[in-house]
Amino acid sequence: RGGAGAMAEATDASRPPPDVDTDECLSEYRYLFSPDLLAGRVAFVTGGGSGIGFRIAEIFMRHGCRTVIASRNLQRVSEASKKLVAATGQQCLPLAMDVRQPQTIVAAVDEALKEFKRIDILVNGAAGNFLCPASALSFNAFKTVIDIDTIGTFNASKVLFEKYFRDHGGVIVNITATLSYRGQALQVHAGAAKAAIDAMTRHLAVEWGPRNIRVNSLAPGPITGTEGYRRLGGKFAEEASHFDIIPLQRAGNKTEIAHSTLYLASPLSSYVTGTTLVVDGGSWLTSANNFPAMLGIASSSAK
Ligand code: NAP
Repeated sequence: RGGAGAMAEATDASRPPPDVDTDECLSEYRYLFSPDLLAGRVAFVTGGGSGIGFRIAEIFMRHGCRTVIASRNLQRVSEASKKLVAATGQQCLPLAMDVRQPQTIVAAVDEALKEFKRIDILVNGAAGNFLCPASALSFNAFKTVIDIDTIGTFNASKVLFEKYFRDHGGVIVNITATLSYRGQALQVHAGAAKAAIDAMTRHLAVEWGPRNIRVNSLAPGPITGTEGYRRLGGKFAEEASHFDIIPLQRAGNKTEIAHSTLYLASPLSSYVTGTTLVVDGGSWLTSANNFPAMLGIASSSAK
């Protein structure tokens, strides 16, 4: 570890909470927020069967929330749901749906409402990503990422609006990224898709605010123990000490993203809408965007 900041002992305010790198629940958890922060609420988490979405579901459940976790692979969400219920004692309904197919979202939301009678929070976490130079990206690969990330986020938001939020209010948290801020190499597809979601966040916050619907984005930096970290060269960056140039000198973990999502989903942020909360340790401000080095990561991670 290098850099001037590395010499300072981490204070509680920037020390990461414990996490585990796999899709397992936390073995220990210390409450920072009130344990009943989301008591009686129901959250619908797309992509909730793995990675960041799984940890968001767990932390919400630890704060009294019941959850629906939804993605394409029913086995994945079913297994995740069993772990979440065992660790938290809350209810979790696993459902199969594809955010690219509105009718599958409608069916999932109908089932969730039948089970829980309400949905208070939507977390749009479903996404797909990989490293690829624009010149090598097929027309279809670009379109697929836009379909899942951007259009999928619109589809889920619109279905939840029509089925419940229009009449009852609600909260939407869109998980985006900082990729477009500095035109990250090998990421035109995901960067463009996530930038469009941040725009959507502002449009929907304006149109739906009068109906008591808050809409915000959360943009994570590099987060350990995730598919994104594995695919986007996180281990390589760690071994090459690339995280030393991040202001907070390290990658983040899933619990840190879940805590910031909890803030945005809860009454703690009752006057916050139309914004993007960047949760990246200051990473996008200082990280190198070196095209040849990134190509090296792309080819080594594709091996
Ligand atoms: P992940 O585990 O791969 O999460 C993506 C989830 O989306 C999976 O559970 C997947 O489940 C689901 N999904 C994919 N396509 C879908 C579709 N068409 N319909 C419904 N669900 C679909 O990856 P992660 O790294 O934790 O990422 C979670 C979110 O954080 C993503 O939005 C990502 O862009 C964002 N993010 C991550 C990082 C990072 O460092 N990891 C950094 C910035 C932003 P199925 O395969 O079962 O469908």
